[in-house]
Amino acid sequence: MRFASLGSGSAGNALVVEVNQTRLMLDCGFSIKETLARMARLNLQPDELAGIVITHEHDDHAGGAFKFAAKYKIPVWLTYGTFKMSSRYIPTQHDLQLNVVDSHSEFSVGDIHVQPYPVPHDAREPMQCVFSDGNHKLGVLTDVGRTTPHIAETLSGCKALVLECNHDASMLQAGPYSWALKKRVGGDLGHLENQDSANLLSKLDNSQLQHILAAHLSAKNNTPALAKASLAKVLSCQDDWIGIADQLEGFDWRVIT
Ligand SMILES: [Zn+2]
Ligand SMILES: [Zn+2]
Repeated sequence: MRFASLGSGSAGNALVVEVNQTRLMLDCGFSIKETLARMARLNLQPDELAGIVITHEHDDHAGGAFKFAAKYKIPVWLTYGTFKMSSRYIPTQHDLQLNVVDSHSEFSVGDIHVQPYPVPHDAREPMQCVFSDGNHKLGVLTDVGRTTPHIAETLSGCKALVLECNHDASMLQAGPYSWALKKRVGGDLGHLENQDSANLLSKLDNSQLQHILAAHLSAKNNTPALAKASLAKVLSCQDDWIGIADQLEGFDWRVIT
């Protein structure tokens, strides 16, 4: 099992998970051209994708997903709420295969098991996912205002984690955002700050952890060094052991063994 990122942050997100010959994309917030270019860095072609899972309707996650899926005839998995709120992205004439899922019910695509879980975020029915091949678990969590006991339970025992470290609380307060945007980003339905992400990490069973990447970093209200330091402190590891899901570069394939 391996995974990689095409990019992460408010300008667009996409992650790819691979188990044997099955590959799933999680979100696609890039144009078709940009998605193809970023996939090429990972030696991926559109016809190698078995599906796209969309976590919620925000532009940086759903903005490119439906057009890409329609063009390359890739099935889509999403909650009913995300479907209802995504009409502006869905081409009028299409033969998209849309699979509506319950955010508490596991489903499988080829060799990949997907365990969705609901998260507090200002979208209609947002979910995040744990991917598994039956043995190894990759937990992904971004776009979450605060953590819940259910999130901690779901992410515990993963071998790989992609965790939102959106902002540093003091940088957000002192930063350039308007009062309203600061309130939104820092609120219960906004985005996770470094220390909240670290607190969540401290509650998980990390005994099998092989990879951890900080994701969805704000370009204005965070730095990779601050995000890494927050997570490294919990794991008592070197800061450089913590990876970054970069907005431009994403991150290269990571193998879970
Ligand atoms: Zn986002
Ligand atoms: Zn969002």
